[in-house]
Amino acid sequence: MLSDRVVVIKGDIVELDVDAIVNAANNSLLGGGGVDGAIHAAAGPELLEECRSLKGCPTGEAKITSGYHLPAKWVIHTVGPIWRGGTSGEDEMLARCYRNSLKVAVRNSVRTIAFPSISTGAYGFPVDRASRIALAEIAGFLGKGSSIEKVLLVCFNERAFESYSRALEEMAL
Ligand code: ADP
Repeated sequence: MLSDRVVVIKGDIVELDVDAIVNAANNSLLGGGGVDGAIHAAAGPELLEECRSLKGCPTGEAKITSGYHLPAKWVIHTVGPIWRGGTSGEDEMLARCYRNSLKVAVRNSVRTIAFPSISTGAYGFPVDRASRIALAEIAGFLGKGSSIEKVLLVCFNERAFESYSRALEEMAL
């Protein structure tokens, strides 16, 4: 059942013992605030060193590195869209972040993966809209059959947790 494979939790993504955590990075991949800063701080300076070798990442795409000092084996860095009012292709860009992160995960034999709420912090994407896009994209991907056993959606605050929980219910997976 799909619903057993998608879980919404509240917590800190850097603490999770999963195969891969996803980073809501920026185009430079050289670190930033929010979840990006937390991941770099927890993974250690080796992460930044490997990120430098990747030469950035276009919005909507995803690149993988080792997790270094994190419990997670891998970090999949994706770059969400900056919210510009919703008519500049933000929805599709956000969907591509989830899709491309999952593709990279499958290519690396990832079975358990955790996502933060991409673009809904500094990038200003409305969380209710983002949560529906995230869930739809993940469900669509898992529905096609893949090696991924579990997807965790990690919410850092109550507002996000409520939004993702509601979106999951609405999907009635
Ligand atoms: P973006 O620039 O893509 O908006 P942010 O890091 O500013 O990225 O915010 C994305 C989401 O990540 C926000 O909902 C924020 O509350 C959340 N977040 C911040 N730190 C963590 C963390 N350690 N674990 C999980 N989520 C986090």
